[in-house]
Amino acid sequence: MKKHLSLLLLALLLTTALLTGAAPAISNLNPDQTTLANAAESVQYIGNLNTHKFHYASCRYVAAMNPANKVPFATRDEAIQAGYVPCKVCRP
Ligand SMILES: [Zn+2]
Repeated sequence: MKKHLSLLLLALLLTTALLTGAAPAISNLNPDQTTLANAAESVQYIGNLNTHKFHYASCRYVAAMNPANKVPFATRDEAIQAGYVPCKVCRP
């Protein structure tokens, strides 16, 4: 009888461990997705790896740019600190 009870307790502990172990993994998914979505939304400037100029994401030169040369920047300062020069057309 006592052995049966301890097995039951063990099963309960394992279930609890599984549940609590799985819960953070699930709740971690959402902040990550939110961070990715925010990162995509916060890209306002696009640098050109070839010319070392940066543009507003809406600039027509960005649309014409080779996707391989695109460098995303969240802020103007970030682009300048990376050595990029503001585009003379869109004046970011
Ligand atoms: Zn531009």
